[in-house]
Amino acid sequence: MHSPTLIILAALLSALVTVVLFAVWFFNRHIPGLRMWVLAFLSSSVFSASLLARDWVPEPISVVVAQISLTLTGYLCWMGSRAYMGRSPPPHGVAALALAVLSAVAVYFTVEQPNPGARFVLLGLMAGVCFILTARTLAHGGFRRVPARYLFAATVGAHGVFVLVRPLAFALVMPQQPAEGALLAALSYIVVLESTAALVLIGFGAVMLTNEFITNELRHLAEVDPLTNVFNRRAFLTLLHKAISSAQRTQKPLPVLVLDLDHFKQINDTRGHQGGDDVLRHFVRLALRCLRKEDVMGRLGGEEFGIFLPNADGAGALAVAERLRALVESTPARAGAGQPVCVTVSIGVTLSGPADAPDTALQRADEAMYLAKQYGRNRVQMRVADSSNVHLVGDAKDTAPPPGARAADAAEGVVSGG
Ligand code: GH3
Ligand code: MG
Ligand code: MG
Repeated sequence: MHSPTLIILAALLSALVTVVLFAVWFFNRHIPGLRMWVLAFLSSSVFSASLLARDWVPEPISVVVAQISLTLTGYLCWMGSRAYMGRSPPPHGVAALALAVLSAVAVYFTVEQPNPGARFVLLGLMAGVCFILTARTLAHGGFRRVPARYLFAATVGAHGVFVLVRPLAFALVMPQQPAEGALLAALSYIVVLESTAALVLIGFGAVMLTNEFITNELRHLAEVDPLTNVFNRRAFLTLLHKAISSAQRTQKPLPVLVLDLDHFKQINDTRGHQGGDDVLRHFVRLALRCLRKEDVMGRLGGEEFGIFLPNADGAGALAVAERLRALVESTPARAGAGQPVCVTVSIGVTLSGPADAPDTALQRADEAMYLAKQYGRNRVQMRVADSSNVHLVGDAKDTAPPPGARAADAAEGVVSGG
């Protein structure tokens, strides 16, 4: 089972991939799992070195070093994949115990009852299982969205299966007669070749996952408002445009809401900017509680937000808006030190019509929201494409427009803030 040139090549490649991954980790230390993968490659370099050095060191030592380093390679690879996927680390105690037992049995089959075949089975046992677990951990998220994970998973999973079954292949061709020696040599070449290819591909996979992580991070930064963690204005508008086009294709109106916190400036003035920020986060938390998974929320700017509800009709949208308004009113926010602060929200609702340009619906919801402000705030106001059809919903004491705000103004979509 000796292919010195190939083993030297594998050791060199392993060291090279370790150095490359170390450099990638050095400049991207925040990427979860990368450090574990670097350590896994370091371990595989130790394993290759132990194969090269086995003619010069006592056999029990080289057997234990090989057992520990290969097992650690698999285990660290699995730990890295769990960290990358945001899962908790596997139980180290169980792994340490398994490693100790494997090493002890490997020494037994070296010193007490020499049996290279049994040692070969032990060598790949835990590593093979860990490689397969790595594949299982990573293969999530959808191939089209995160292809690098699946490529990594396929490579590492196939390698795990190979590591587990290769002793069987050797058992089948064990040289009972000298004629089978050539076959055994060919098999050992294949084993080293496969390990070398897997090493390079898995290293490449780790770099691809790093790239995937950084791309997702940049996309998140470009699309998400850092304060409230909902979409920023640009991303929300892009999604709204798509949703309106799709609603027009299926001839279903799309409910669009514009929400603005009432007298927010006062909160900033009394609780400070930090307190205002707390209120914004509090408001978004409440809003998300009222929404379904497919509903989309974005921060349009300051204390103004947009929402669209792809699977709701007008009545459903009004119900959501009213539930949200009531929830905000009845749930004071913790804003810095001091008593919780009462907040209210004015909400404009509209439906995208078949002839609406993408921005028209948002503008109409905005106008409805300003009407809600004009009629006393802490209200829901609906405005549909046909301007004669105006509904008022909201706080019972506020249903009638205040003096000076005529129904005709409402029908024309009078805009009034403050
Ligand atoms: P109205 O009821 O008419 O909506 O009055 P308002 O006070 O809510 O509205 P106005 O537009 O007068 O004030 C909005 C304030 O929101 C002014 C601005 O300083 C504050 N603001 C905008 N962005 C942020 C932010 O990110 N954090 C905090 N704390 N305040 C913000
Ligand atoms: Mg406001
Ligand atoms: Mg505003």
